[in-house]
Amino acid sequence: MKPMNRSSYAGLPERFFARVNPTPVAEPHLLRFNHALALELALDIGDLDPRALAGIFSGNVVPQGAEPIAMAYAGHQFGHFVPQLGDGRAILLTDAIDRAGVRRDIQLKGSGRTPYSRGGDGRAALGPVLREYLVSEAMYALGIATTRSLAAVTTGEPVFREEALPGAILTRVAASFVRVGTFQYYGARDDADAVRRLADYVIERHFPQAKTEQNPYLALLREVTGAQASLIASWMHVGFIHGVMNTDNMAVSGETIDFGPCAFMDVYDPAAVFSSIDQQGRYAYGNQPHAAVWNLARFAETLLPIIDTSAERAVELAGEVLATFSTRFADLSLAGVRRKLGLSACEEGDAALAEDLLDAMHRNQADFTLTFRRLCDAAEPEAADADVRVLFVNPRDYDEWASRWRARLARDVLDPRQRAAAMRRVNPAYIPRNHRIQQVIDAAIDGQDFGPFAELSTVLSQPYEQREGFDTYAEAPQAGERVLQTFCGT
Ligand code: AMP
Ligand code: MG
Repeated sequence: MKPMNRSSYAGLPERFFARVNPTPVAEPHLLRFNHALALELALDIGDLDPRALAGIFSGNVVPQGAEPIAMAYAGHQFGHFVPQLGDGRAILLTDAIDRAGVRRDIQLKGSGRTPYSRGGDGRAALGPVLREYLVSEAMYALGIATTRSLAAVTTGEPVFREEALPGAILTRVAASFVRVGTFQYYGARDDADAVRRLADYVIERHFPQAKTEQNPYLALLREVTGAQASLIASWMHVGFIHGVMNTDNMAVSGETIDFGPCAFMDVYDPAAVFSSIDQQGRYAYGNQPHAAVWNLARFAETLLPIIDTSAERAVELAGEVLATFSTRFADLSLAGVRRKLGLSACEEGDAALAEDLLDAMHRNQADFTLTFRRLCDAAEPEAADADVRVLFVNPRDYDEWASRWRARLARDVLDPRQRAAAMRRVNPAYIPRNHRIQQVIDAAIDGQDFGPFAELSTVLSQPYEQREGFDTYAEAPQAGERVLQTFCGT
């Protein structure tokens, strides 16, 4: 194994992080190692035996050259500002240049206390680790920007939540772990020098094109705004609900990060909320674009002093950029929904056609994923609507909409078979449904059976391709299987 390097983040001034080693665990056991990702990262560790891998990815063995750090950050949690959060249970081990030339951070989550832990134990329970592993890798396979999962290990130690649970550590990989809350940490301390250094770091790493612009920091805001508009649109297209869109859980790179109480909707409902702690529905499915803009406004505030020396001018410039989110999001949203409906050209009435379908789905408690997937079949020449109709409480609502859709398709240039194939590339057959994740977690905890975890991972690795033997994974939960609440990873 080649030595690891110091992460580039650890090259920033000392007030950006705390140096801290992972706390060793009793009995590390490798649950899963993502060989494909390790190859992509050119880590040269995939050949180590499971014991050696468990040693590294439990934090028991710190590879030579790595300089583990916990990153400082602040954040608005459900609208309330907390000036100091930071990695309370995560440790950035190193970063690696991947085969595409992109620098990627490698972080252990659940690896012990850090100076930012406050009252927490620095640990993670097995359930949330399995959930994050499955959902982050599923997001990747769906083609959505996301942090990835490199390894999961059990620690052989219990963690104490409402009850004693098996402990685990997740190794995750990100374009970077810089969050909106990282900027807020320095903004709240009026440390404009640190904000500038952090902005320069982020520009260099994620948005180098901003350097050439007249006002690079304004360009940074524009890039981050665009990346978030694109990210949230891609979430909405697969029915993903992040669940805790606090500013400390929004990565400036535009990747999905921190899969706590996240969930995919079964039945379509814009007000859908699964997180047990989101009592007001702040982060409900349909509110996600608003939550993103709110977070971006907090990000913009931290940048004001470096955008322009005139505070008034800075506010004006930043305001103009923030205002672009809604049109950008609306455009991406519509483009995505056109693809979902198999429309190649643009027509005036497309947005209304899409909205009317969603309205009908909502009124009729139709399953989001199944409706769109079955529409792919209905787009074939010998189209049959029966399988879509049954998803609607009142199938006539579907019939009415479908006749408009067909009239619209008739004016579109695509060949029906090509259209159906194109639709199947954007409307997944398999998503990480809540009840499936719960079954995986129950089997792992109650029966030490990781077979269901492995099988669900396999199913989710090719979400757009219906495969034999996996039919039940495409199904919506039965009444008794529904999981209506998800919990934070703490
Ligand atoms: P999260 O809700 O996971 O986004 O975490 C919010 C904050 O709480 C972050 O600063 C975390 O590092 C910290 N935190 C969450 N769980 C723990 C834990 N078990 N021990 C220490 N800090 C934690
Ligand atoms: Mg977090």
